Amino acid sequence: MSDRFPAILVSREGEKGQKVEQVTLGLDDLMDGDVVVAVDHSTVNYKDGLAVTGKAPVVRRWPMIPGIDFAGTVESSDNPDFKPGDKVVLNGWGVGETHYGGFAGKARVKGDWLIHLPDGLSGAEAMAIGTAGYTAMLCVLALERQDVTPDKGPVVVTGAAGGVGSVAVSILSKLGYEVVASTGRPEEAEYLKGLGASEIIPRDELSGDPRPLSKERFAGGVDAVGSKTLANVLSMTKYGGAVAACGLAGGMDLPTSVAPFILRGVSLIGVDSVMAPKARRIEAYARLVRDLDHAKIAAMTTMIGLDGVQAAAADILAGKIRGRVVVNIG
Ligand code: NDP
Repeated sequence: MSDRFPAILVSREGEKGQKVEQVTLGLDDLMDGDVVVAVDHSTVNYKDGLAVTGKAPVVRRWPMIPGIDFAGTVESSDNPDFKPGDKVVLNGWGVGETHYGGFAGKARVKGDWLIHLPDGLSGAEAMAIGTAGYTAMLCVLALERQDVTPDKGPVVVTGAAGGVGSVAVSILSKLGYEVVASTGRPEEAEYLKGLGASEIIPRDELSGDPRPLSKERFAGGVDAVGSKTLANVLSMTKYGGAVAACGLAGGMDLPTSVAPFILRGVSLIGVDSVMAPKARRIEAYARLVRDLDHAKIAAMTTMIGLDGVQAAAADILAGKIRGRVVVNIG
């Protein structure tokens, strides 16, 4: 393979602005690391949307190749855990933020950040899952640890038609949960039912001013939205239930009270994917192979090339992306 490869590069322009261009780079341009990967697929997550558009300070080193996830094949390695030809996947660890990321034909990274692509998953499927989907799995694992089992009652997924939400709906339904999907896009109702949602509720039903406690409705929840939505979900969670919070698509605040925690024993579980330890990642991927149907992965995926990344970045921030966007690096 040629040493030259395409990449999306984000550079500082003026004091606060940034410019985005597609460039051709060589291996010498990459940052330090002990493994070089020929990247075949990446993906556009919400955070990538922020990085490419500059709408939030995700990029903390300039210039930067964004892309917080990639899948590919090891080309060379000084790390004993990886050898040329190994199929690998990377999610997070500051890649695409402080270290050159996945929107490029090659990446040089620390082997400690990589995991082997599990059997039964292609690179494109791993990227259809991406950080969004692997975070959804971390949320499901968090609910299981709190003993939120399917027999306890319905679970709610907020931001359901987005990346985290689509994967969470799919996994939870496969596991036998009754899934209530909250979306601001009623036109995606059929899509969400196809992924396994039993009931679709409008986003507005959960975004009003929250009361400390409301009627007990959900055994648990996966929340990608935050703000009043998370506060409402907490106030509607049944006695002893749990909510896994991973996102802020609706805002970073949380206008709630201690009432759900001290009167109903509700648990709020924070979920971070970026620095999650390797063992938890391997567990999450093993479960994704088992609990996420290939047909559902395909149903939630749109494929683009590197030249489509900028438009997809703007669309994901505008809430226009359904499911997951995979970038075929070629
Ligand atoms: P997407 O944009 O794909 O999905 C977000 C969804 O949230 C949208 O599709 C929309 O769903 C809903 N939404 C958007 N804006 C609002 C709003 N103003 N009020 C209520 N709902 C809204 O993003 P991802 O799924 O990739 O990420 C979701 C969130 O999770 C983001 O905040 C992201 O930063 C966070 N995240 C956190 C991770 C972690 O490690 N903690 C890892 C990955 C993501 P609908 O149209 O169905 O209403």
